[in-house]
Amino acid sequence: MADSRMVFPGDEVAVEEEYLAAEGTFSEDGVIYASQIGILELDDECIARVVSPNPPNILSNGDIVYAVVADIRNTMATADVVGKEGVSRTLGGETYATIHVSKISQGYTDDVSKELRKGDYIRARVTATKPSLQLTTKDDHLGVVRSLCGKCKTQMVKKGQGLFCPECKTNSPRKLADDYGNIKI
Ligand SMILES: [Zn+2]
Repeated sequence: MADSRMVFPGDEVAVEEEYLAAEGTFSEDGVIYASQIGILELDDECIARVVSPNPPNILSNGDIVYAVVADIRNTMATADVVGKEGVSRTLGGETYATIHVSKISQGYTDDVSKELRKGDYIRARVTATKPSLQLTTKDDHLGVVRSLCGKCKTQMVKKGQGLFCPECKTNSPRKLADDYGNIKI
């Protein structure tokens, strides 16, 4: 007999007479309970387990992440988190993040487009995960780490405090990470 349904921590999922408690479960007084949220699996080998739909690699406050700027709005940028520093595994859970204008740069800025542009790769720190994922780039080591020219797609080079396209000969302001152009992911 196979069974699979969503369960929550503390839910009664089986009895020890019929099943053996495995990952994501615990037993007490002959009853097996879920110890985490997930999908209950009661298999033919009489094993009860609860498998998390989002495996462990979930973000928490203070994590350093890499993200791609998705959109620039008046008071914030949105970004898709693509990885966590030091972890090669794909992220589970929420990857849609926002960066408020006040969290972008050490200096005062009221114009997000002077700091970040769509398509920029950034290194950022997680400042909140609930109710939504929020990031900051407000440190020397945080900010844009790679950027392609919006017109010709040439890789932009660092020039002064901002970026320069060697093809178009245009300057573009940015909040850069201190190792822009020389990073190792
Ligand atoms: Zn260009």
